Amino acid sequence: MMKMNSTTMMQDAELRHEIQSSVSKVECYICGKGLADGHSITAKTLSNAIVLFCDVHYSMQ
Ligand SMILES: [Zn+2]
Repeated sequence: MMKMNSTTMMQDAELRHEIQSSVSKVECYICGKGLADGHSITAKTLSNAIVLFCDVHYSMQ
């Protein structure tokens, strides 16, 4: 049982790492501007993916 638990935890950690690396580039999906340009970035879940929008384009969705 202990072994099964540790395996599950490892898989969970790997999954989180993949998610973090996929959103490491924090910039708008449409215009490419990000926090460095003074925009706030908001994540939005679409039917098949998570995309990021700046404050301007998020309100247009
Ligand atoms: Zn934008």
